[in-house]
Amino acid sequence: MSNTADVIIIGGGIHGASLAFHLGQRGLKTLVLEKNVLASGATGRSSGMVRMHYDLEPESRLAWKSFRYFRNWKEVVGGDCGFTRTGFIQLVPEKDEAAMCDNVLMHQKIGIPALLIKPDDVKRLAPHFQTDDFTLAAYEPESGYADPNAAATSLMDAAKRLGARLIQDCVVTEIQLASGKVTGVSTSQGDFSAPVVVNAAGSWAQPVAAMAGVKLPITTWRHDVMYVRNPQSVPEHSLAVIDNVRSMYFRPETGGLTLVGLEDDNPLGESPDGYTDRAQPGFVERAIDRICERIPVMEEGDLHSDNGGYDGISEDQRAVLGQIGPEGFYAQCGFSGTGFKIAPAVGLCMAELIVDGEAKTVDISPFDPNRFARGELLEGENAYDDIWH
Ligand SMILES: Cc1cc2nc3c(=O)[nH]c(=O)nc-3n(C[C@H](O)[C@H](O)[C@H](O)COP(=O)(O)OP(=O)(O)OC[C@H]3O[C@@H](n4cnc5c(N)ncnc54)[C@H](O)[C@@H]3O)c2cc1C
Repeated sequence: MSNTADVIIIGGGIHGASLAFHLGQRGLKTLVLEKNVLASGATGRSSGMVRMHYDLEPESRLAWKSFRYFRNWKEVVGGDCGFTRTGFIQLVPEKDEAAMCDNVLMHQKIGIPALLIKPDDVKRLAPHFQTDDFTLAAYEPESGYADPNAAATSLMDAAKRLGARLIQDCVVTEIQLASGKVTGVSTSQGDFSAPVVVNAAGSWAQPVAAMAGVKLPITTWRHDVMYVRNPQSVPEHSLAVIDNVRSMYFRPETGGLTLVGLEDDNPLGESPDGYTDRAQPGFVERAIDRICERIPVMEEGDLHSDNGGYDGISEDQRAVLGQIGPEGFYAQCGFSGTGFKIAPAVGLCMAELIVDGEAKTVDISPFDPNRFARGELLEGENAYDDIWH
């Protein structure tokens, strides 16, 4: 087994797998080193929402490019990503309605199927929703959700067919440097060498960057979700929703379930190895109250399960993409709780950056890891409050 590659990727989540796939398409041999098993980090816990609604144009562009993968996964990647089209609506508090209108215009300019609809239209799409606390909604009829485990597995399988190797149970402990360049890594399974090393370590991105002498302003973000069994009177409902009025999001899940997550009280700075088999105490009660406010008939539903997960979150809650520190060291991290849906396009753009020196599919220079040192934090053109508060 050769211990040499063109590119070493630290982290076998959706981002490591996407980058390995796209580098493989460009003829490079990659080595994905994963301390646990594929998709055992944020990816395996992700709610898998796939929508294009952002308040920052480069993020919408990444989501839109990625959407073409989700919709045509079998042809573009191979295998299945479990994409389910449900339609998606974004609700915002009254103070953000003008910003939402401008954001929908921005989405339409990019080509995203998006429109503004009234509460009556929402009622027609989702008759059980309570609709008297908003006057407008942004609607994406094509959006929905996918299965993050299936997406990561099929991307990694496709990467392997193109020559990539995944080594699991392999902890990277050191990044080797010589004359200001990366030369490889030391791991629990020995040393591996490559002129390029990519930090795709999710909520472990900060300690991994430190191994290369790089300080990244990324901390951890904990996020809990619950699954509710729908009441018998409403066995299915069909919309994925980000509900900023009630600080939550929810979507249907197969098997007559509804997945619910909350935008507030997601602790920062905990160990990424914290306990995630169950949600934090108090979460389920709060989430049940919120979902029943929006869908009152959910009072008749019951709890199916709950759990948590960790992602890396950056100072401006936006991705961190590009070269930083020693030559050959790249960051593909800091996805701040929204990185699943953009992973296909991010992997493509990072491959372009590494191979050609510049990303052409989408300009990812706004996500430059060096922006923090320059004090240039990203903010939406028509900004909402921070997603997570
Ligand atoms: C509960 C939850 C719900 C979410 N819902 C959504 C959603 O609906 N839509 C959306 O778009 N995004 C969502 N996200 C965010 C999204 O899931 C993440 O942004 C995305 O999965 C990050 O992928 P990743 O590959 O960067 O990180 P990860 O999947 O965390 O992968 C990083 C990997 O690096 C490995 N690693 C770390 N350190 C080392 C080391 N030293 N050596 C070797 N390997 C190492 C880890 O084991 C891990 O497997 C959610 C996140 C969470 C936690």
